[in-house]
Order: sequence, then structure tokens, then C-alpha cells
Amino acid sequence: MLEMKNVDAYYGNIQALHDVTLTIGQGEIITLIGANGAGKSTTLMAICGVVPIQGGEILFEGKPINGMRPDEIVSLGVSQAPEGRLIFPDLTVTENLDMGAFQRTDKAEIKRDMEHIFELFPILAERRRQPGGTLSGGEQQMLATSRALMARPRILLLDEPSMGLAPMVIKQIFEVISRINQEDRTTIFLVEQNANIALQVAHRGYVMENGRITMTNTGANLLEDEAVKTAYLGI
Ligand code: ATP
Repeated sequence: MLEMKNVDAYYGNIQALHDVTLTIGQGEIITLIGANGAGKSTTLMAICGVVPIQGGEILFEGKPINGMRPDEIVSLGVSQAPEGRLIFPDLTVTENLDMGAFQRTDKAEIKRDMEHIFELFPILAERRRQPGGTLSGGEQQMLATSRALMARPRILLLDEPSMGLAPMVIKQIFEVISRINQEDRTTIFLVEQNANIALQVAHRGYVMENGRITMTNTGANLLEDEAVKTAYLGI
């Protein structure tokens, strides 16, 4: 569904991505793990068209998307829930969700999708009239993920959904990620520092170090890999 081929990206003179090649198949959950500053967020921003690439290409369903505007990429069905949540603090939960669907015109379906989200995250239903900025960190993360889902993406890109959250909330969010993948058949590309939980839900994973992909395997095999255990799982 999505392919990065030999992608290079820079911030000024600093090369952040080196020859990055990865594939994400229809219906898969793929995770990209790596330390702080490895280049994970840059990879997502390159896919979304926010960071331009200088070498290689990015294909969505076989067609190049590098060079397209971010809104054009969203309209193809690529939707991102960014790191740090970035919800609209002064808009209510419902209004934030409506913003996720701004490119859609199918009003009845939008309403149905919102009900589906309230079923996935009952706490958001309780808080539907509350401004986003008054939600807890975990609730804001749920809202950011839900807002991205309101675009009805073909592929959902998630940047560190576990960041700063309590273990119970992380567990809940990852259960929903698995459910969205299994029940709605949404393809998911998940960037995470919490390698343990990310590799548990992912079909396959990639390890990134200093802007380079250094390892790839199934989630289960990476969890058993000695180098991964030492570097990312603290075992
Ligand atoms: P984290 O887990 O800490 O978010 P990351 O793996 O997502 O890290 P990136 O944010 O992609 O890493 O950063 C990759 C490299 O690019 C880092 O060395 C970072 O300092 C650098 N970088 C990121 N954004 C910019 C920017 N706007 N200008 C210059 N350098 C940047």
C-alpha cells in the first residue's frame, strides 16, 4: 500500500534520513521503533509531505506522492495523528472530531463514525461538550487518534501514541489500535519509542538508528532478538 524507496531527507545541512526503504502492506500494522532523534517523526512527516525528500521516492498504491501537498496526500486516504497530540484546545471534543472529517461530505456516515468512536472511547462520549484543552493527557491522545480516524483513512499514521501516558491508558489505546486494524481493516503505521507494546501489536517492525533502517522482521521475532532486547526493551 505504501512504500518508501531509498529516501533521503535533510534539515538544512543535516541529513535526517539515509536511504530509508520500507513497505507497508494493505491491512498490516507496521511499527517503526528507535531511540530519541533516530528519525521516526521525520519519516512520518516525509510521508505526509511536510518534510520534503531529496532522494528516493514514496509510493502510495504504486503512485509517487513525494512532491504532493499535504492536503492532497490526506485526500488520498493518508491520515496522521501527530506526536504531542495537537488537538484544538478551545474546540469541544465533538468539534475536534468534526475537524477530522473536514474533507468529507457524507454527513450521515460522519455521524455514524462519530458514534463508532464514542463506542471505542466511551470517555470521549462523556466529555463530548468539553473543550479539548481541558482533557487529560490520555484523553487528548484518544481524541487525536480519533480525529485522524474521522478522515476515514486508508492508512493511519500514529506518532508515539503512548508518549507520557500511564500504563493502563497505553494498554487501552493499543487495544483500540488493534481493533481498528482488525474490525475496520485500516492499515496502520505506528512510530513508537515504547518498543515493547508496539512490537506486540505489530505484524512487522523496522528498527531505525541515526536515520537508517538497521533491522526488520516480524514483531514477534524482533521481541525475541537479543540486540533489540538490549537496546530497546531494557532486558
Ligand atoms: P523522538 O522520538 O525524540 O521524537 P525521532 O526519532 O522522531 O525522535 P526526529 O524528530 O525525526 O526523530 O529527528 C531526527 C533528527 O532530525 C534529529 O537529529 C533531530 O534533531 C533532527 N531534526 C528534527 N527536526 C528538525 C528541524 N526542524 N530542524 C533541524 N533538525 C531537526
